[in-house]
Amino acid sequence: MTSGQQLRLYNSLGRRLEDFTPSEGSVGLYSCGPTVYSYPHLGNMRPYVFSDTLRRALRWKGIPVRHVVNITDVGHAVADSDTGEDKLEVAAARELRSVEEIAAMYTRAFFEDMAALNVMPADDYPPASAYVPEMIAFASRLEDLGFTYRLPSGLYFDTSKSPGYGTLALLDIEGQREGERVELVEGRRHKSDFALWRTEEAGKRRVMRWDSPWGWGAPGWHLECSVMSMALLGDHFDIHTGGIDHRQLHHVNEIAQSEAYLGDGRPWVRFWLHNEFLVIDGSKIAKSSGPVPRLADLVAMGIHPMAYRLFLLGGHYRSQLDFTLAGVESAQATLRRLVARVMPLRPLPVVETREAADSLAGDDPTAKAYLDQIDAAISADLATPKILASLQESLRDPALTESGQRLIVAVADALLGLRLGELELREVEGRRSAADLSADEVSQIERRVAERTQARKERDWARADQIRSELEELGVQVTDTPAGPVWELL
Ligand code: AMP
Ligand code: ZN
Repeated sequence: MTSGQQLRLYNSLGRRLEDFTPSEGSVGLYSCGPTVYSYPHLGNMRPYVFSDTLRRALRWKGIPVRHVVNITDVGHAVADSDTGEDKLEVAAARELRSVEEIAAMYTRAFFEDMAALNVMPADDYPPASAYVPEMIAFASRLEDLGFTYRLPSGLYFDTSKSPGYGTLALLDIEGQREGERVELVEGRRHKSDFALWRTEEAGKRRVMRWDSPWGWGAPGWHLECSVMSMALLGDHFDIHTGGIDHRQLHHVNEIAQSEAYLGDGRPWVRFWLHNEFLVIDGSKIAKSSGPVPRLADLVAMGIHPMAYRLFLLGGHYRSQLDFTLAGVESAQATLRRLVARVMPLRPLPVVETREAADSLAGDDPTAKAYLDQIDAAISADLATPKILASLQESLRDPALTESGQRLIVAVADALLGLRLGELELREVEGRRSAADLSADEVSQIERRVAERTQARKERDWARADQIRSELEELGVQVTDTPAGPVWELL
């Protein structure tokens, strides 16, 4: 059994910290996964580093977990709406590829980023497109139970039939029915009602389409998560996670349809955990609003993915985090110092649970005090910044023996996942210098710089500025000197 502090998690359902104990032997954990219609951006990394931290916390407490992360490859319409085009179909048309190619390409990109960030793989990554017959069966049952109504545009869930609709979002349901959502759906009875099935319009054949009792079409976005989580984790499970944006709409609708489907009067999922957003200059980063930085952009600038992970863990998952390059660079400097300090302590033991840590600590009181500190931090709603602080302190503490330090580093890293036992100093050394670039990269940069010089000669300042900012995005800074332009890596 577990020892140490009771794990407490902030449950969005009720908006308070609660003791977490698994309802059965193992915890079912479902995290809303990526919509694979473009590259995942830096903000999209946060929910999975957060759910990975949660998994490490549960492992620390000796609680086994089954983790499911879905891949949304159909059903998610632009602007999260019921009537818009499917995001993947729009991307396929834009990129002149098939929807399957789009899904495969961006799913691969997601997995690559997860691996680079040392996020432990989930047990299952079900794609929505593989569960459409189950979704149709689920919606049919809701129809049989009287929770739905048909319109020419599809099958809709009647939210007025769902007692407690919107509790998760603290929605004033009357208020919501009157106002807010702007999308106009012909015949929809209440503004909060949502599509379970989107029937295709006559003359507008969808690319991804299935036959159903409501005509040819595709499932509504919310359906996949209810259906796939229940299929893989059972009707009821312990924890559902996602970004804070899902607390207002997607998760509200998942709960409404799932509780209607089950009809057993029990809450569908006990704990709902949401990570706050990563923002740039105070505004939300969104894939839909144009190019946004990706992990690969940071790597191209010499930032190691573990430095970005450290940057994320340096903030609590429930606080907004402001992305700045300076912040990520300072995380990389911290990581570099940590690696340099830890290297003489290697090899580190593998210590993943509190129980194992206790037995290794023996009766060393200083090591035990640090273990208590770290345990208290992870137990208090996953306070990763405090674990980092304890780790730093332990490495400076003359009262802690070398084997004590080895143990504390191993424990902190089992929770933080920074690969402190194996990272090489040269991997986190920092930015590349021009000498590290390939001949191809150099000639590409020089061609762009020459184009800018030409634009300036032609007094086309807008174009010259445009090229300069494109170069800056690639980490190249151009300076005009009396001898002509020179460039360097930022
Ligand atoms: P999507 O691929 O758009 O379906 O989003 C995948 C996950 O990323 C969801 O859990 C979103 O809530 C989350 N997310 C999207 N943008 C951000 C952001 N800027 N910061 C943190 N999480 C985000
Ligand atoms: Zn979901």
